[in-house]
Amino acid sequence: VYCRGKVIEWDDEWNPLRAVESHVDITKLKETEEAEKKYSEELESKNKELEQFAYVASHDLQEPIRTIASFSELLEQKYKGKLDKEADQYLKFIISSTNRMKSLVNGLLDYSSLGRNKEFTKVDCSLLLKSIQEDMKVSITDTAAEINVGQLPIITGHEIELRLLFQNLISNALKFKKEGIPPKIQIIAEQRTDDIKFSVIDNGIGIEQQYQERIFAIFQRLHSKKEYEGTGIGLAHCQKILELHGGKIWVDSKPNEGSTFNFTLPN
Ligand code: ADP
Repeated sequence: VYCRGKVIEWDDEWNPLRAVESHVDITKLKETEEAEKKYSEELESKNKELEQFAYVASHDLQEPIRTIASFSELLEQKYKGKLDKEADQYLKFIISSTNRMKSLVNGLLDYSSLGRNKEFTKVDCSLLLKSIQEDMKVSITDTAAEINVGQLPIITGHEIELRLLFQNLISNALKFKKEGIPPKIQIIAEQRTDDIKFSVIDNGIGIEQQYQERIFAIFQRLHSKKEYEGTGIGLAHCQKILELHGGKIWVDSKPNEGSTFNFTLPN
């Protein structure tokens, strides 16, 4: 019961004589609140269970995959050209599929490991971007890309995850470039009332409106691996990193005109 009251009459010694009161039955409200709390606790525990499952599964799958990969490579080294042409072809398929399985499982393991370390520190985004560009020097030079970084703030977060976030967005901007046109990438930040908004802008192939949400789901890709290499994990990583930091990510894009990946981090 929710009660409120107000004394309206006192005696000469200021002892209360009369009061007006209201009593509201809030049983239903409390029941709903409790049901909601229970539901969100259950949901959280199911999510944790799923994440733990993905972690254990991908971790335990690594060993047998490694064994298949190394024995099929040995088989190729020893018997290539000694069996018939078809056998050589089969071995090639086994090796390339095993390598792909290896990168998918590694990606899943990385994905489920995100957030295990919850230590947040101060991160100077300008320094972080400088060091990322150093690390990516080869692909930046190979694609003749031009990268412009605006003034970036110092934020609080998990440095390794924030590095992964920027790295994924930049490497996608380098990868999904228009044929014959060097990538131009701009990275800017805007201080807003409640958050900081970052944008990674490219002049690449762009993304059709209908796929702009789907690309953030794990293993979702819009191209075959022949057209563009990849596993479809990068943006799922970015989304999870932002969830762990209390932010969000989305894309604005038009096919053939480039994409702008925006994300926010709380102030
Ligand atoms: P991957 O790069 O391994 O394919 P991601 O999860 O990083 O996986 O990206 C998912 C898909 O989103 C990509 O396959 C691509 O189709 C699309 N995409 C991501 N970044 C860009 C970009 N900058 N320009 C155009 N398409 C992009």
